[in-house]
Amino acid sequence: MKKRTLWLFLALAWFVLGLDTLSWGSLESTGWTVPSHSPRYTVTRIIDGDTIEVAKLGKVRYIGINTPELSHPKLGIELLAAEACEMNKRLVLGKTVALEYDVQTRDRYGRILAYVYTGSTFVNAYLVETGYAQLMTVPPNVKYAALFQRLQQKAVSNHIGLWSENPPQLSKTGTYVSSIKSFIFHRPDCRWAQAISPSHQVWFKTESEATEAGYQSCKICKP
Ligand SMILES: [Zn+2]
Repeated sequence: MKKRTLWLFLALAWFVLGLDTLSWGSLESTGWTVPSHSPRYTVTRIIDGDTIEVAKLGKVRYIGINTPELSHPKLGIELLAAEACEMNKRLVLGKTVALEYDVQTRDRYGRILAYVYTGSTFVNAYLVETGYAQLMTVPPNVKYAALFQRLQQKAVSNHIGLWSENPPQLSKTGTYVSSIKSFIFHRPDCRWAQAISPSHQVWFKTESEATEAGYQSCKICKP
């Protein structure tokens, strides 16, 4: 009788947990355990959605993915480029990241090639899973190619981010304006604010919204 109760309990737990995973669609890119020997660096700058700069090492390009470009030679700013950059910034700017390498450690531009983790979030995978990045497999660096492919398929079938029919846009109006490249927010009448090109503008409704996104107030216009 006791044994039967235990089995019932286990079956119920399995059902509830399984159902929970299905219905809430928990992210596969979170909950990773990063090896303790992985080198760790502080992120000092965001170049775009898939490239960062870290202290003591320089530019780091995320392996296996590609985000829309901020300044494409022909297309100008690509759809969701600013959003991908913003998402990347919210994930890692000013934080300590752990790097994992694949076969090649640098690309032809001299940038470090890495899988990047912040806390237990696998950043490369997160950007694909949330629809901000596309799969870009470049042999021989293919360690997580199958994972990225699966996550992209999921994003495509869920119609999110790049795969959405109506992609989210950063707010185009608000009380304070900033550039996706400076991380400083201004009053719209500040001369520095007026120098920001429209495609690089990020708007915030409140000061706290801006500071929570990692932006600092301008020392000139003092918002
Ligand atoms: Zn200003």
